[in-house]
Amino acid sequence: MALKDILAERPVRRAGIETAVASLKDKFGDRVVTGEDVRRAHAHSTTYIPNQMPDAVFFAETEEEVQALVLICGENDTPIVPFGTGSSLEGHINAPQGGISIDLSRMDKVLAVNAEDLDCTVEPGITREALNAHLRDTGLFFPIDPGANASLGGMAATRASGTNAVRYGTMRDNVISLTAVMADGRIIRTARRAKKTSAGYDLTRLLVGSEGTLGIITKLNLRLYGIPEAILSGVCSFPSVRDACDTVIETIQSGIPVARIELLDAQSMEAANAYAGLDLEARPSLFLEFHGSPASVAEQAETFGAIAREHGGGEIRASQKTEERAKLWKARHDMYWASMTLRPGARAIATDVCVPLSRLADCIGETQEDIAANGLVGPIIGHVGDGNFHVTLLLDVADPREIDAAEAFMARLAERAVAMDGTCTGEHGVGQGKRGYLRRELGDAVDVMRSIKLALDPHNILNPGKIFASE
Ligand SMILES: Cc1cc2nc3c(=O)[nH]c(=O)nc-3n(C[C@H](O)[C@H](O)[C@H](O)COP(=O)(O)OP(=O)(O)OC[C@H]3O[C@@H](n4cnc5c(N)ncnc54)[C@H](O)[C@@H]3O)c2cc1C
Repeated sequence: MALKDILAERPVRRAGIETAVASLKDKFGDRVVTGEDVRRAHAHSTTYIPNQMPDAVFFAETEEEVQALVLICGENDTPIVPFGTGSSLEGHINAPQGGISIDLSRMDKVLAVNAEDLDCTVEPGITREALNAHLRDTGLFFPIDPGANASLGGMAATRASGTNAVRYGTMRDNVISLTAVMADGRIIRTARRAKKTSAGYDLTRLLVGSEGTLGIITKLNLRLYGIPEAILSGVCSFPSVRDACDTVIETIQSGIPVARIELLDAQSMEAANAYAGLDLEARPSLFLEFHGSPASVAEQAETFGAIAREHGGGEIRASQKTEERAKLWKARHDMYWASMTLRPGARAIATDVCVPLSRLADCIGETQEDIAANGLVGPIIGHVGDGNFHVTLLLDVADPREIDAAEAFMARLAERAVAMDGTCTGEHGVGQGKRGYLRRELGDAVDVMRSIKLALDPHNILNPGKIFASE
């Protein structure tokens, strides 16, 4: 969605906001903050999309408080924007119509770990790293790992994924059920803990990915996994991005249960070396990880190595040592920050698309040509085992010509992915930034989505202006 459209959309301010803020202050005192710094920090800050502040930030501590907030805002026609850690990338947490940002970071308890059932129940504000730290002694882990240390509520709301999705799936696959406060104040639990259910509509999956527009998640029941007996990580470099992509396609098609297979193009490798102190070849590379028994990880690595060699891949630099593996994956997770070293002073704008695996090499190849033809700086990284990749554009955001060029590029990228039967966003979500691409991708299904939104939130108080335009 063009920046000028987002800016032009400043809708009529709703009359009840002052009353709602006053009522909330009466009820919750200094946990309702109206200072500008706090409000600014609760609006979008990760891209060139402007920061649109809420009128107040409420730090919720219990589900009952979330419900009370929803009822007060409902009575006063006041928008509510749920906030986890604010790491979303498409303007999701902006408040274009003002209203209240509800910060859920204080609701961060692990409520239960059911080790024998491989699941746990958590509050939405806990971060993925805090959850895994809590689980460490149980021998279990939660695999979804977006590059930021995001909250589980925010991850569910954006249907996030990360480097492990090729083996463990996304938030869609790993939220068993959730509890949410709906726009009318009802508190619903979408399912029980049973592994399967055919009991009616799948409200869990409706709320996962709903970006705070349908309900505020207050509890999540999540799938857990045993920490593998053996883990082998490695890096393999290739003559070209196409060779690396072809290797990925064949690896997945051969059924190797790879746990992570991440592409970094040559520019990204240069940035990773500089930022994370690695000494890897600055050539297109795959970062890999295999999970299983010692024999099975060795076998998987060997079969992968044979496929890679057919595509010009070098030796795998592999390690099973925890510290070396951690250094490698930290470098991968830090790529957003590392990429900024390629153009000092520039802002990094990460965009994401996903295509069927068989089209991955074509989509990345055409995108590289587009970047070169338009004189952009845009390293490519990706969770390529899922057909998902990111271009991180490095821009002088004060230069309107650069913003125009970047927007035109992102539109072409989305168009290219959709033309290949893919999607304009594999994991970051729609927010404000990708609203303009939805109809091209989903046609009349967008109207059905809008009907669902209107049925559940007829006054459009939950995160208005996200997924759909504000009207
Ligand atoms: C460096 C970096 C790397 C990233 N890498 C990845 C990646 O690999 N994969 C990926 O998927 N994403 C990635 N992201 C994007 C981001 O981390 C994810 O979108 C993440 O899921 C957002 O979580 P959050 O807690 O920060 O949510 P926020 O940004 O606070 O909120 C995101 C959305 O969820 C809604 N929301 C938050 N909490 C709730 C709740 N309890 N109930 C209902 N709605 C709620 C908000 O209203 C908003 O619409 C990256 C971001 C950065 C900055």
